[in-house]
Amino acid sequence: MKKNATDFKVKNQKVIIRCDLNVPIKNGIIEDDTRIKKSLDTIEYLINGNAKVIILSHLGRIKDENDKSLYSLKPIAKRMSELLYKEVKFIPFTKGVEVEDAINNMKPQDVIMLENTRFEDLNGNLESKNDMELSKYWASLGDLFINDAFGTLHRSHASNVGIATFLPSAMGFLVKEEVEKISECLTNSKKPLVVILGGAKVSDKIGVIKNAVEIADKVIITGGMPYTFFKSLGYNVGLSIVDNDSIDFCKEIYKKYRDKIVLPIDLIVAQSISEYSQTRLTNRENIGDKEIGVDIGTATINLYKSIVMTAATIIWNGPCGVFEISKFSNGTRKLVEFLNITSAKILIGGGDTISAINKFEFKNTNAHISTGGGASLEMLEGKELPGLKVISDK
Ligand code: ADP
Ligand code: MG
Repeated sequence: MKKNATDFKVKNQKVIIRCDLNVPIKNGIIEDDTRIKKSLDTIEYLINGNAKVIILSHLGRIKDENDKSLYSLKPIAKRMSELLYKEVKFIPFTKGVEVEDAINNMKPQDVIMLENTRFEDLNGNLESKNDMELSKYWASLGDLFINDAFGTLHRSHASNVGIATFLPSAMGFLVKEEVEKISECLTNSKKPLVVILGGAKVSDKIGVIKNAVEIADKVIITGGMPYTFFKSLGYNVGLSIVDNDSIDFCKEIYKKYRDKIVLPIDLIVAQSISEYSQTRLTNRENIGDKEIGVDIGTATINLYKSIVMTAATIIWNGPCGVFEISKFSNGTRKLVEFLNITSAKILIGGGDTISAINKFEFKNTNAHISTGGGASLEMLEGKELPGLKVISDK
């Protein structure tokens, strides 16, 4: 068991907290402040506990000097001040005397935010390569370290992994919630467990498919991925998306797990990926040479319904079709409808999948929606996350 924020005595302690404040930002204007809002719980807990709070985060990618003005954390500190009703003092440096003086002058309940940790990537990728000297330096600024950045747990950076090796460390509330909810679905889930995997490319999700067939009772392969399976089975897939490098993988895994893997029975095919394209419903054996599979068909939708409605746990990543185009969105829309009425426990992850559930009015309150695309996928692969591994045990 990993320590969490409440396992520390934080009073008068200098607590360094790694947040995920990587919000969409253009010309200094924050386009969506969800991530800032989500990080407030742990910060407020630390303030109420009379800690001195030092915030670290990355923002965007820093490849040259120009990126610095685009991705300064200054506007983020300002927005956080407004949300907290409290000054978040922004220090426009990642290290040096200004940082050290500001920290030495802190009183309990003070909050400061250092500049974007990735500014250190301009000195030879020190942050992204988890440089030991930089990690040690950041650790020297505090007494305790809390990681509340779920979205970067699968990366090994100085501000989330390196620093934790030099300080007593714990999970923040966000990380704790994500890790517990996802682990529960993966290891302690009520059966039947159904994993629905869609999206564009098989190669992005090979690791997830491999783990899913081990842990689940049914693995629904949907979206753009079935066509590589179909090709491996010798069907004509026309101009549908195929991942040629993954054909052997699909053939092997389908041979071994034929009883678990559910492929679509029928499909909507189109002449082109466009709202104005002609479409037709076809069974999977009859895709024409010039046709593109863009959505699942009605028999497949009914099949999904019967599987979803008898599941006790459902994990979903990846849409069932090119849902961005409304003509091709029926399968994904219907899946959301079934998920809205099932009493199963649900875990949903993936950037596009989250766009889809927002678009199609997902309203099941029994679901956990994971905020971290890459990190949640690596958990689904059964991998250990470096940012989590390094946190102190209870
Ligand atoms: P997530 O971000 O949720 O992990 P992915 O990025 O793997 O999901 O996949 C989402 C993308 O898959 C969407 O942009 C969608 O248009 C695409 N997609 C779904 N079905 C198909 C298909 N039949 N052909 C091509 N692309 C598809
Ligand atoms: Mg995506």
